[in-house]
Amino acid sequence: MARTVVIGGGVVGLSTAMLLGCDGHEVTLLERDPSSPPETPDALWESWERKGVNQFRAPHYFMPLFRATLESELPAAACSLEAFGALRSSPMDAAPDSMTGGRRDSDDQFVALTARRPVVEAALGRSAVETDGVRIRRGVAIDALLTGESTVSGIPHIVGVRTDSGEEITADLVVDASGRRSNLPDRLDAVGARPVVEEIEDSGFVYYSRHFRSADGSVPVNLGPLLAHYGSVSVLSLPADNGTWGLGIIVSAQDTPMRALRDVTTWEAMWRSFPLVAHWLDGGEPISDGVAIMAKIEDRHRSFVIDGEPVATGVAAVGDAWACTNPSVGRGSAIGLLHAVALRDLLREPDQDPRAFSRAWHDATLDVVEPWYRSTLRSDRHRLGEIEALRSGGVYETDDPAYAISKALEFGSVSDPDLLRAQLSVAMMTALPDDAMAPLGVFEKVLAIGDAWRNAEVPAPDRAGLLELVGA
Ligand SMILES: Cc1cc2nc3c(=O)[nH]c(=O)nc-3n(C[C@H](O)[C@H](O)[C@H](O)COP(=O)(O)OP(=O)(O)OC[C@H]3O[C@@H](n4cnc5c(N)ncnc54)[C@H](O)[C@@H]3O)c2cc1C
Repeated sequence: MARTVVIGGGVVGLSTAMLLGCDGHEVTLLERDPSSPPETPDALWESWERKGVNQFRAPHYFMPLFRATLESELPAAACSLEAFGALRSSPMDAAPDSMTGGRRDSDDQFVALTARRPVVEAALGRSAVETDGVRIRRGVAIDALLTGESTVSGIPHIVGVRTDSGEEITADLVVDASGRRSNLPDRLDAVGARPVVEEIEDSGFVYYSRHFRSADGSVPVNLGPLLAHYGSVSVLSLPADNGTWGLGIIVSAQDTPMRALRDVTTWEAMWRSFPLVAHWLDGGEPISDGVAIMAKIEDRHRSFVIDGEPVATGVAAVGDAWACTNPSVGRGSAIGLLHAVALRDLLREPDQDPRAFSRAWHDATLDVVEPWYRSTLRSDRHRLGEIEALRSGGVYETDDPAYAISKALEFGSVSDPDLLRAQLSVAMMTALPDDAMAPLGVFEKVLAIGDAWRNAEVPAPDRAGLLELVGA
């Protein structure tokens, strides 16, 4: 069994540590932020200091895929989440029979176990502390990678880490789970590795968000999708734990008049202009000050194997340290958890030398998580294209047939129970877009919709109305 160092104690680092610990590996997780999670959800929200995670108090939704993977691979962690008050809910709950065609057994796939991000992290943290073989050290930052004798000439072999206090910790495998701001390429560069191939660009979206809590522990119902596109803005209404919820308005970073959404009154006025979500403001009191803004969110993807050769051996990146996209679709944690499971599975393979392991890890990454990354990136680019077209009074056109298909599916999902489930499968990550279309007749129904989706009524003010709401 391997001695493993995991860098970073976010959602993915903690999950990785537990998965490996449960398999008998000896895991040391090093987290830069010093504070341990407070005991209660209220205290977690109000006072847990987590400077290492920018999005710590941004609205989060943990997908059904996250729930299903946690329940099958880390059942104790799923129980811990429930004990912290995570909400078990499905977008099907509030949908009328006229839309769903009545309940089907397979609808359980759409059930999520979700909570505010600090609550999820604390629940995973508590479960990780109780996992045999896992040691968590908070307040310890990694400063450098240690190298040993190369197993392949010219390729550095990582044998551990040096912490900011100069301590050296050796390991058979170093797992980088240090998130969006991971500087693994620089650390590899410092030990003489070839450059990592990195794709990086601004996602182009800005988030204006707030959190609320009801007095009686209830949470408003979703009358539409969790992420709804209303012309040139998108809206997130995310139920969470213990009678709380997060709301977000997402705009293009280029849409400068929308910067007025930083003002609470303007934000509320816009929110109330959307009839399908306006009620989310009625049942609760704010639990965050003002409007939280997140901008400059990058799409980033890294390849650590180039032309068949790893840039280094003895090291593996998981979760956001490998790749991250625009988070409005809420996929980061589920993708990261899948990635962590893939790492655990690969470590079960016998007798792999470090080079074979690095290559196999690259292949597993391409196989298990890359398709989710690419599909997210593709739909984000279309969404930005749509917004830009709407801003300039035009119509978005693209050669990519997948765009029209996804729009037709979304349109058809309101009136056809099979298309509703196909649409939810994509949105809830129970299937990739192509697989969601696979059930008999679904694709044909989508094709039959043709261009009708272009005339769909949007339950929101038009562009002129939105501009008026922000005083432009
Ligand atoms: C605005 C926003 C909203 C999002 N909403 C959702 C959502 O609704 N649903 C969803 O699933 N995902 C969402 N995500 C993505 C999600 O937050 C991440 O994908 C998820 O947290 C997994 O991240 P991670 O564990 O890989 O990294 P992180 O959570 O970023 O954790 C990395 C950890 O590494 C530590 N660290 C960094 N450097 C070092 C070092 N040198 N030494 C030691 N420790 C170090 C950091 O302190 C941090 O704790 C959102 C992201 C953003 C930006």
